[in-house]
Amino acid sequence: ASGSADGPQLAPAAPASVAVGEPLVVLTDVQKYFGDLHVLKDINLSVGRGEVVVVIGPSGSGKSTLCRSINRLETIESGSITIDGVPLPSEGKELAKLRSDVGMVFQQFNLFAHKTILENVTLGPIKVRKKGKAEANQRGMELLDRVGVGSQAQKYPAQLSGGQQQRVAIARALAMDPKVILFDEPTSALDPEMINEVLDVMIQLAEQGMTMIVVTHEMGFARTAANRVAFMAEGQILEEADPEQFFTNPSTARAKDFLSKIL
Ligand code: ADP
Ligand code: MG
Repeated sequence: ASGSADGPQLAPAAPASVAVGEPLVVLTDVQKYFGDLHVLKDINLSVGRGEVVVVIGPSGSGKSTLCRSINRLETIESGSITIDGVPLPSEGKELAKLRSDVGMVFQQFNLFAHKTILENVTLGPIKVRKKGKAEANQRGMELLDRVGVGSQAQKYPAQLSGGQQQRVAIARALAMDPKVILFDEPTSALDPEMINEVLDVMIQLAEQGMTMIVVTHEMGFARTAANRVAFMAEGQILEEADPEQFFTNPSTARAKDFLSKIL
């Protein structure tokens, strides 16, 4: 479905990689249970401003729960999660504000089926950020152009390919001017030929300094864009390493075993 006219039309890559700033997302001693199931076991993770951390690990290891906890879609039993120094609030206006600071892109694009592509991108800015419609539309179009789907603005999600829909989901997250974007297996539901058009947009975002936490098994993305890989298994972060080092010489047997199965 996507020809060159629909492909991402992004600025050229920044010449140098972005310097990692002060801690933006900080998880300290986080514990999370589902009933008796201990899903996050003493998680400590600090993500700096402008940093890209790839979270990798077997199915069921707690990667989605980690993302959902950071976005407060799940509550944690103990420990703390702070965004830009502010602890996660539990409810009300503060929570809405926090949610809008933390963008999220899911495996299933989760676009509103009965709204146009442009409306999908402008809804949050108008409702939550209280932007005027004209301003929201203008910015929405800029973002849709940036991810290569500007020509699709008046269509509905079902009329777009999966790769295009996921790029709309990224534009929708960007429209809220988030401090960090969480990506939970953003290419896992895509046909293989559409994976790169989404990864290319993500790589550009990384090069432009967006802080990103990305759950993915796409090694090419990790090697190109990640500052760090965090390997999760059974609710724990077992290893944090430079991508090159992680993929060529992981330090734990668990990671070696996992990599031997996916590579
Ligand atoms: P991953 O994303 O790494 O595959 P998840 O975070 O989805 O892992 O799940 C971690 C564990 O928590 C799994 O054992 C899963 O079955 C369980 N789990 C996830 N969500 C729920 C839930 N809402 N209720 C009960 N158990 C859950
Ligand atoms: Mg998951």
